[in-house]
Amino acid sequence: MSLIPPIDLARQYAHFQQDVESAVCQLMASGRYIGGAAVSDFEREFAIYVGTGECVSCNSGTDALYLALRAFGIGAGDEVIVPSFTFVATAETVSAAGATPVFADIDPVTFTLDPDRLEAAVTDSTRAVIPVHLFGHPANLDRIGEIARDRDLKIIEDCAQSTGAYWRDRQVGSIGHVGCFSFFPTKNLGAFGDGGAIVTDDPELAQQMRVIKEHGSPRRYHHTEIGINSRLDAIQATILRVKLPWLDRWNESRAAIAARYDDLLAPIPDLIRPRQVEPARSVWNQYTIRLDRHDSAARDRLRELLLAREIVSSVYYPRSLHQQPVYDSDAALPESERAAREVLSLPMFPELTEPEQERIAYALKDCIVEL
Ligand SMILES: *Cc1c(COP(=O)(O)O)cnc(C)c1O
Repeated sequence: MSLIPPIDLARQYAHFQQDVESAVCQLMASGRYIGGAAVSDFEREFAIYVGTGECVSCNSGTDALYLALRAFGIGAGDEVIVPSFTFVATAETVSAAGATPVFADIDPVTFTLDPDRLEAAVTDSTRAVIPVHLFGHPANLDRIGEIARDRDLKIIEDCAQSTGAYWRDRQVGSIGHVGCFSFFPTKNLGAFGDGGAIVTDDPELAQQMRVIKEHGSPRRYHHTEIGINSRLDAIQATILRVKLPWLDRWNESRAAIAARYDDLLAPIPDLIRPRQVEPARSVWNQYTIRLDRHDSAARDRLRELLLAREIVSSVYYPRSLHQQPVYDSDAALPESERAAREVLSLPMFPELTEPEQERIAYALKDCIVEL
């Protein structure tokens, strides 16, 4: 029996090893390591892929969110509504921009921002909403779009876990005012280090983000505001250009793996399987089940029992953001709190094999009996 990891990037490397090696060697020989054609070519290709007019690359998904907030002029005195059940960067960047993240609850089926909770959280100070397409599943962009239009809010899509996902016939990132992407290695399109991008159809906004990410300078040694240094490395852009043409195939494999899990796990009691809700097309960054026991101890025990069988599952996320020490809000967000107690993400990557999935399903069936 061998270990089944949550994700295995080395298996994927075999697909494109030769292409990456030759492209990276050429880049290294070129002597051009910052900016240049590799970065501008990737920006153009990624904008075409998502279906937007503009793409601004940057150092990470976190920076992408920060740059979007700054470009909208969001800062002190402003509120931005975010789901509580997400990775910390979604809220942390709002705080870093000087504004206040306001936590709203999630829809328990899709783990994404509940539009009713969003509507209830809007105040006169609300400037924007950050729907997160968590685990690869798009948030309800129809209803969020209506509320945002009515209340004049900017929509900043957090697409870090959902590169290539669709809402109706459009890709996530192309529907809100901006879409923020991460190329962290475990995301659907991953670099070999950090990377990120923002897409938009608004050329002025894109220009503003380019200024802020280059030390607040519209031209060299002329600084009009406080900026940061946030670049996508040429070497990462080179790797991403090789990988981008594979992305749809990998996302299709993830969907097939999710469908197979759905069949294999259906007979197991106490286990709630993730669902794809129309008109969303998920890219399954995670396959996240819930253990219906309302108790994190049972979930943690299940994870340990699986580990004893050499199956590594993960808890994204064990605590919602409103309950983190850094925010420590007394808001009651029952669905976010319950998700944090019940979720368990099973191994999910495009190269996961059928025998491995069967082993995971048998192990789950045995382990749940032992709980
Ligand atoms: C990964 C992630 C980010 C941040 O991306 P980095 O590239 O790691 O900075 C933001 N939001 C969500 C939901 C993420 O999963």
